[in-house]
Amino acid sequence: MIGLINKISRSAWVLNALSLRLTLRAFILTKIELTAFEQQLLEKVSHAAQRLKVPAYAIGGVVRDKILGRPVKDIDIVCVGDGIALAHETATAFKPKPKVNFFKTYGTAQIKLPSIELEFVGARQESYERGSRNPKVSTGTLEDDQNRRDFTINAMAISLNQEDFGRLIDPFDGLQDIKDKIIRTPLTPDQTFSDDPLRMMRAIRFATQLQFHIETHCFDSIKRQSERINIISKERIADELNKIMMSGKPSIGLDLLFRSGLLAHILPQLTALAGTEYVDNKGHKDNFYHTIQVVDNIARHTDNLWLRWAALLHDIGKAPTKKFEPGHGWTFHGHEVVSGRLVPKIFNNLRLPLNDRMQYVKKLIELHHRPVSLTKENITDSAIRRLLFDAGDDIDDLMTLCEADITSKNREKVVRYLENFELVRVRLKEVEEKDKIRNWQPPVSGEEIMETFGLSPSREVGTIKTAIREAILDGIIPNEHEAARQFMLEFAATLNIKPVA
Ligand code: ATP
Repeated sequence: MIGLINKISRSAWVLNALSLRLTLRAFILTKIELTAFEQQLLEKVSHAAQRLKVPAYAIGGVVRDKILGRPVKDIDIVCVGDGIALAHETATAFKPKPKVNFFKTYGTAQIKLPSIELEFVGARQESYERGSRNPKVSTGTLEDDQNRRDFTINAMAISLNQEDFGRLIDPFDGLQDIKDKIIRTPLTPDQTFSDDPLRMMRAIRFATQLQFHIETHCFDSIKRQSERINIISKERIADELNKIMMSGKPSIGLDLLFRSGLLAHILPQLTALAGTEYVDNKGHKDNFYHTIQVVDNIARHTDNLWLRWAALLHDIGKAPTKKFEPGHGWTFHGHEVVSGRLVPKIFNNLRLPLNDRMQYVKKLIELHHRPVSLTKENITDSAIRRLLFDAGDDIDDLMTLCEADITSKNREKVVRYLENFELVRVRLKEVEEKDKIRNWQPPVSGEEIMETFGLSPSREVGTIKTAIREAILDGIIPNEHEAARQFMLEFAATLNIKPVA
């Protein structure tokens, strides 16, 4: 080898080196296309780093996403030196000078520009102790910093230094893994996942978002260590779960979570839906796989995370309500109500919001069988009005959920069910136009009832109000003030309540 190299003339070397650089540049340029704005940003960082005489690199997600042609929302910069100082120096290149947010304890700094965020940190090495995901951190080299990264595709860096600006530094062959669509850890998977078990969720999240395959050793390691997810905070778990839920095909991640054993720790109510049981040769569908298919179906129609959550939890009550009734088969009576009841517990456990978003998910789940019953013949306006009243502004989302719930493999059945729901939508529209029940406000207020009969706030007021509402929903009287007032007087008379003179 040495002999061979000696035979190459010096000029050939130079040419070789030059063409290598050109190939490299061309290669990088074809793989990484920076927008003019990104190029300018990175040049500003590069010049600031030169002024401070610290080597600097763009690293991690930005490199991965640029190679993949995905949009970039933030750029991580690592420098072999003081990241906060580099952030301040970079900020001086902008007019007006942006604010630098920095965290001395962590040695990190951030510049938020209108369309993108720059994050700065000094290169570091980490060592972990079992039982904690908070590593001991000390300053390190670029190589140390790349070693601590979770996956090969996340460990690539691009030099921002004058001598080799734009050079890809890819010690673990991340580029090849991107081509092969593989998620792999730079160090041994057992060590990587044991050090920080959140990485197990991240592996599955990236596999879902990018539709990559988790390398077998890596996945086996997740299976072995799934129980260690319990040392991770619920907020972080939910954050990854939400990213899986917001991906193009969430079922990829949900299935991986299930098969790795992680789901049993983070959402056992969902795992409980898995499997098929047979009695007297009668089986039921696997409600876990049905559910994740429903999530995929709904993901094609909405980016509303909470509507996707409603799809994920819509059948959660099927495990506790499952029964085999001889001569009849498997039943899941009242599972919608039980599913709805489980929502606050699940949201609380995963530290998801316990506000109106949770109420929305609960409501949609509780109502998800109602439109199905409206697909039968001879449905009265009253049944339609009641659903409009109960669903309010969320009626369209409810219909989207019901349509997503169709997972039959029989094409004809699917078409028939969808047509039935279309008819329900038409009826809903007709009744709504006629009766304006959606977001219904009672035409006679509680105050008017109290004034009319000289009542103070009491059970009687509630009884009269409910009677008026029921009469309107049943179509006994129109949704109008005069008719409602007349009805109120007649109904109150039956209770021996008389208007004041
Ligand atoms: P996204 O922005 O979609 O979440 P990302 O890769 O940019 O993707 P970040 O969480 O911002 O994700 O992390 C930035 C980089 O930091 C990653 O690309 C990876 O190199 C590294 N990183 C993040 N979390 C971890 C972790 N738990 N263990 C090791 N490295 C991590």
